[in-house]
Amino acid sequence: MTDGLRWQELFRGADASLLTKENYWDGRDPAPLQQRFLAPTAGERRAKLMPFFWSLFAKEGVVFGDQDAGSTASVTNGFNFSYPGYSETLTGHGDPRIDSNDNKPNPNRTVLEWLNTQPRLHNSVAAFGAWEVISGVVNARRCGFTVNTSYAPLQLSPSTPVLDAINLQKQYAPHVWDDESFDAPTFFTALEYLRVKRPHVLFLSLGETDDWAHGKNYGEYLLSANRVDTYLETLWTTLQAMPQYRDNTAILFTTDHGRGATGDGWTSHGQKLPESKNIFIAVMAPGLPARGVLTQVPAVTQSQIAATMSRFLGQDWNAAEKQAGKPLPLWP
Ligand SMILES: [Zn+2]
Repeated sequence: MTDGLRWQELFRGADASLLTKENYWDGRDPAPLQQRFLAPTAGERRAKLMPFFWSLFAKEGVVFGDQDAGSTASVTNGFNFSYPGYSETLTGHGDPRIDSNDNKPNPNRTVLEWLNTQPRLHNSVAAFGAWEVISGVVNARRCGFTVNTSYAPLQLSPSTPVLDAINLQKQYAPHVWDDESFDAPTFFTALEYLRVKRPHVLFLSLGETDDWAHGKNYGEYLLSANRVDTYLETLWTTLQAMPQYRDNTAILFTTDHGRGATGDGWTSHGQKLPESKNIFIAVMAPGLPARGVLTQVPAVTQSQIAATMSRFLGQDWNAAEKQAGKPLPLWP
């Protein structure tokens, strides 16, 4: 997941009207980014912004949420901000008690916690978040699997040189946001964990797309989305190079909420911006028919993601959690 990336940028690419001096660092010249990300058509712009996603993931997978094509994906929790969105994603239902982003332990069991109790999957689940509140969402105190967030070092024994270097960087590089690291240390921590521990289930939440947008820095928001695309590519290449995962692994790519659609609305989200309930959901998995961007299809919701994840593992989350949405309509 990448936090608060709009469906508009995923499907249309960079918005020329937002890529201005006013929406970039201290009036820095946006010309290099305009050159890099703008083009006459939406198809060209999105391929410039997220080249791996559009050249492989979207071609071989299934993509929900392109409202220009008659496909809508949205959250059902009614809040349109992060903790409720992550909780809906991982439990399959909204919860009116989860009405803030405070780092409180989730009273609900997530699909990750449940999968970790299944015999074949026990001790084979892990979660990583740039935002420290991900530890509350998955209830790190109770869940029984590895959770690593924000600036906390990941301690493995034995450790690895890569992990030691990332842990030092987390400790000593500037902490620009109190409760959230940049995406790079989080992504590469998760990638190293994947290489060493080879879990069946790995959850990853990146955060820069949301932080830069709140900071009214459209240039850095685009660069973050572009980096997320390289992380997806790196993840894919890594999986395909490991026999345990090659042609045997499902990847779901989504976001916890959308953002406003007009004026400065792109910087924010929440109940006052009803359109920020709209998201995208993309899935690539062996054996799934490659349908690309879906057009003119019934709406889907964030509450369907948890049961979809578990179905890829041959597990029925709907039997364990009655409130959860049904799997996405991916299977014939
Ligand atoms: Zn936000």
